[in-house]
Amino acid sequence: MFQKPLPDFTIQDTYPVCINYIDDAGIKQYMVDIQDHVYSQSEKYLDLIRQSKLEELDIPTIFNIPMDVNGKRSKTHENNWFVKLYKYYFSKNEQRYVDANQFYNRIKLDGVVNNNSKRCCYCNNNKIEVVDHFLPESKYIFLAVNPINLVPACEECNDNKLAYSPSRTEPVLVHPYFDVIDNISWLDVQIAERVELKDEKKYIYVFEYFVKDLVECPIDIQRIKKTFEKLKINDNITFDAQNFFNTELIYELNDPEELGELTDQVLALHFRKKSQKLIVQGYGINHWKVALYKMLSNFSNFSYFKENPL
Ligand SMILES: [Zn+2]
Repeated sequence: MFQKPLPDFTIQDTYPVCINYIDDAGIKQYMVDIQDHVYSQSEKYLDLIRQSKLEELDIPTIFNIPMDVNGKRSKTHENNWFVKLYKYYFSKNEQRYVDANQFYNRIKLDGVVNNNSKRCCYCNNNKIEVVDHFLPESKYIFLAVNPINLVPACEECNDNKLAYSPSRTEPVLVHPYFDVIDNISWLDVQIAERVELKDEKKYIYVFEYFVKDLVECPIDIQRIKKTFEKLKINDNITFDAQNFFNTELIYELNDPEELGELTDQVLALHFRKKSQKLIVQGYGINHWKVALYKMLSNFSNFSYFKENPL
């Protein structure tokens, strides 16, 4: 979870451009007539976010699409057009829809150029690949092309998130535009176990990343925990961390020409500097590598990592 800059355009910019592409005059008029309602829902979304009460945003019954006798929802109903605006125009990489599609590209690109992190707004690890609907367009259809609800993410987080919608009984996920948690250290890691690979005569180290139990936090810490769990961020970053540690760092720690000859004290300082350098470079306090180096900087005895029969 890494804060991203809010796009510098709004629903008032994207909506008229998208509905202008609709060929059917009747449907286009319907979308024009409901425009003020779409804008007012956007204001409501912003109000509730400022109050940290997004779970109170209703799925409006006005948008419920009637079912036919077979229990199927009409695919041609005007309300379906809210999702189609996103699917047909906004996210479509075709020259004729460029006026709408450029907004989509700016959301992906703004997360890269206007921000220290070129990485996904949820895991702060994988590169940005898609635009994610923070609240799903299938339920909150009036938010389908609203920039405040569209965030730059990786495919893995996007897939794990599924059609998430906030509930009054569960903590709301962290919003990458509105929840500022980059200045506090909430991510931590520990060594879960050391596994001996007998055939290869070596150990591999297994990590577990987790969200700390913070007493002071700008938002409810349970929201960070919920996001971490829901998006399976532990699986995502642990995989990369273990790969890095077991195939690179462990060899450096055992190589006399690298870190092998350094005393425990010097090694701890080395890792502290490494974590600080990554923060300066824009990785953020809560990047998995920063947390890993911090954990290592707290070791007073590194022999545990040097028992590896390399
Ligand atoms: Zn991600």
